[in-house]
Amino acid sequence: MLLIRPNRHFDECIVSYLIRISEQNGFHHIGHLLQHAGLPWKNFRIPTHQMITGEYDIEPYFSKLGLDYTYPRTADTFNSSQFPHFTTKIFVKTPKICPECLGEMGYSSDLWSHIAYTACIKHKLLLVDTSPKTGKRLSWYRSSLNEFSESDPFPPVKSIPKASTATLAFTRAMVYLIEGRDPPKSTPSAIRGCTVLCWGV
Ligand SMILES: [Zn+2]
Repeated sequence: MLLIRPNRHFDECIVSYLIRISEQNGFHHIGHLLQHAGLPWKNFRIPTHQMITGEYDIEPYFSKLGLDYTYPRTADTFNSSQFPHFTTKIFVKTPKICPECLGEMGYSSDLWSHIAYTACIKHKLLLVDTSPKTGKRLSWYRSSLNEFSESDPFPPVKSIPKASTATLAFTRAMVYLIEGRDPPKSTPSAIRGCTVLCWGV
């Protein structure tokens, strides 16, 4: 049972939630956290992608840590996209983030884990997935939610490329699809009328 057990926000990425829990409880990274809960995976790996899609039953390990497991929205999205001959590549293999949102909210949005969601529509910035300092991809197995690694913080906002108008329109439309709402009239015609089936193609 962990000492610090905040609940997951309904729109918080389930893997990033574990990064938050791991950091707050002093674990090196999420692999160590789930090994502590008895997950029998080798080399401190954990089923990150299958947790996002809901394909791996991680609830027993949440339970051992004293965490409430709530079914992620991304798993609903994944289930609604399971048709024959359709790509299952909806979600990223490694994370991307908006440092501004992370600073304001204190947690990672589950929207960022969709491959097609490439910009923050609130801050109009491209999401960050690579360290400008080392050229390495951001990892699920980082020790802090708010930096690439120790002494490698996220880049300052002024150095992050601004998203183009077209990218923002596309990303905004993606949010409507992800959340199952009708896209606004301003949505590019190529996307309007699209369903979840269009993603990742
Ligand atoms: Zn943002």
